Parts: sequence; structure tokens; C-alpha cells
Amino acid sequence: GFNCGIVGLPNVGKSTLFNALTQTAAAQAANYPFCTIEPNVGRVAVPDPRLGVLAKIGKSQKILPTSLEFVDIAGLVRGASKGEGLGNQFLANIREVDAIIHVLRCFEDDDITHVEGNVDPVRDAETVETELMLADLDSLEKRAHGLTKRARGGDKEAATQLALIEPIMAALAEGKPARTAIPKGEEEAVRRLQLMTSKPVLYVCNVEESSAATGNAHAEKVFAMAKAQGAKAVIVSAAIEAEISQMPEADRTDFLESLGLADSGLDRIIRAGYELLGLITYFTVGPKETRAWTIIRGTKAPGAAGVIHGDFERGFIACETTAYDDYTSLGGEQGAKEAGKMRVEGKEYVVKDGDVLLFRFNV
Ligand code: GDP
Repeated sequence: GFNCGIVGLPNVGKSTLFNALTQTAAAQAANYPFCTIEPNVGRVAVPDPRLGVLAKIGKSQKILPTSLEFVDIAGLVRGASKGEGLGNQFLANIREVDAIIHVLRCFEDDDITHVEGNVDPVRDAETVETELMLADLDSLEKRAHGLTKRARGGDKEAATQLALIEPIMAALAEGKPARTAIPKGEEEAVRRLQLMTSKPVLYVCNVEESSAATGNAHAEKVFAMAKAQGAKAVIVSAAIEAEISQMPEADRTDFLESLGLADSGLDRIIRAGYELLGLITYFTVGPKETRAWTIIRGTKAPGAAGVIHGDFERGFIACETTAYDDYTSLGGEQGAKEAGKMRVEGKEYVVKDGDVLLFRFNV
């Protein structure tokens, strides 16, 4: 599965958000088999209203949403790259995640200590990013040392690797994150380097309850920063999310409405995380279950089949494909077939978000 690491300085609301995420998931456990995997790892359902619509048309007994993992990464402080706080432990955890959810304190509360003295989310974001950049630079310098030796000895592979990491090291040395220096077409090679600052990032502005619908001046500065970086930001009140997570599902909509909110901040984080990772969803619909499956945007039909089962990919012949809009407006499989909207696609077909698929395969 894919995962997002929740990072940020101490006391910004990371654990509050993480607990809200996993408790909401736990509260839905009757419907969804999602749970806390480890104390700091939780798997949550990706909310998708299309599932209910499809299940109704397909008269499915069960709905199975797709999921995303969140990891609560504690222990980042100024100096972490030099081993302060949980230092190395923290860095090892963050190297393993696919995307970063960076929580920033945008709420004023004199009772909650701010480790940097006052509320200034843009400074905090820079503090964290600096630690990550220093750690990335450190790991690349170590790598470059060995590669240089091998390249001098005539090792072509080492020379190629060196050519890949040199511009990234130069960017980091100038205080620019690795994601700003990824050569075109080298995204996959860079991903394998497991650099923290090459991972996509979502900023979460944790605002006080009264600003949940409107945001505040701190959050505005974060949005400006995110825009300049080509990153995304969302506004959330961790305190409200914590409250919602304790509520029966039936009461949630009214509660959100009373606060002027259209949806829960957690749903927005989950969806943004999904988008951040470049993930899309396809569906399978049958009498037993309607199910959502996650693939990376750009995946071809056999790869999409492989998410269900390796045999589906190996024995792939074709897939019956109906776009979500056609499937729902034409009343399902039969209607889509009759209207000529159910296509049979082959190995080269790039699956689209919302496709309803039925695979044909050899066993
Ligand atoms: P972490 O260290 O980043 O994991 O932060 P926590 O989630 O443990 O939160 C630190 C403290 O801030 C706790 O006492 C929380 O109750 C409090 N806190 C978190 N979010 C909010 C918020 O939105 N408003 C207020 N007033 N307090 C919050």
C-alpha cells in the first residue's frame, strides 16, 4: 500500500490529528476492515461517494473502499539532522514514506508551549525542511564519495548515478529541496534514492476551532508559501477533528454544518494525500461486493489487474471497461453494453480514474 508520513515540530497537533484519523476509521470498523496497524501506523478508508452509487446499481452486498496508510512520525526538532531529539530514528521513518503531510501550528494558545517561542508556521516549515535538506545532503555526499571512486575506476553505472545526484546535491547546498532539482524523466531513479525532500508534501494548517471554516492570518501565509513552491495546503482544526472522531456517524454532518464546514478536514487530508501520491481509483462491481482499487496514474490494464491478483496480471487477456458516468447514467453493465459504452480494452490501455473494470484472464 501507499503511505503518508505526518511530520512537524512538537506540539503542533500531529498526534491529535493521527488519533482522529485512526479513531474515525475504528468507529467505522463495522463497515470497513481498517485499523491501527502499529501504535503509529493507521490505515484509513479513502472516502469515495461513487462507491455507494455503484453498489446500489450493482445490488452489491458489500462495499469495500480502498485505503491509505498514515504514519505518525514523532521526534523532529531543530537539530534532528545532527542527531538531536529522536534524530536518526525519525529520519529513518520518514525515508520510508511515499508522501509527507507537514502539520503546521497555526493556532494561538498560551497554554500550549511552542518549542520555538511563538506561532510562526512559515518559519516552522523552514526549520523542518532545513533539517530534511541537511540530512538528504549528508546521505548524498556519502553516496557520492563511493560513486566517485568507482566512476574513476571506469564503472559506467556509478558515473550515471553520480550524474543523477550531482545537480540534486547542488540544489540542496543552495537550500533548495531535492524535489526542485529532479531531472526530466528521472523521477523513478530519484524516488529510489529515498530522499526526504524529493517526496511530495501537503501542508496542513492546524487552526483554532473558530477559524476552521475561514482560516486565519497564519494559514494565509502558509498558503502563499505553498503556492510559491507548487505545493498544496489545507486548513484543519485538529481539535474539531478529535471531537468528530468520537461522534456517531449520524451526527457528524449536522455538527459540521453547524460549524459552516462542508466536509471533515480528515476527508480532505485523505483525498489530498491520495492526489499527492498521484493515485487514482478504478472499481469492480458485482453482487458480492463493489470495491475500489488503487493504482498509480498512468498504469496500464495488466498492471491494474495485478493489484487484485498476480495471476490476473500474468494471464491478462483483456478488460471490459465502462466509464463511471456511463455506468451510472445507463443503469449499469447491461445498459452500458447495449448503448455501446462498454469497451473491450487490451494490454496497452491506460486505466482512467473511475473506470468500472471486469478482467478476462487465463489461469
Ligand atoms: P504533537 O506533538 O504535534 O503530536 O502535538 P499533539 O497532537 O500532542 O498536541 C499538542 C497539544 O496541543 C495537545 O495538548 C493538544 O490538545 C493541543 N492541540 C492540538 N491541536 C490543537 C488545536 O487545534 N487547538 C488548541 N487549542 N490546542 C490544540
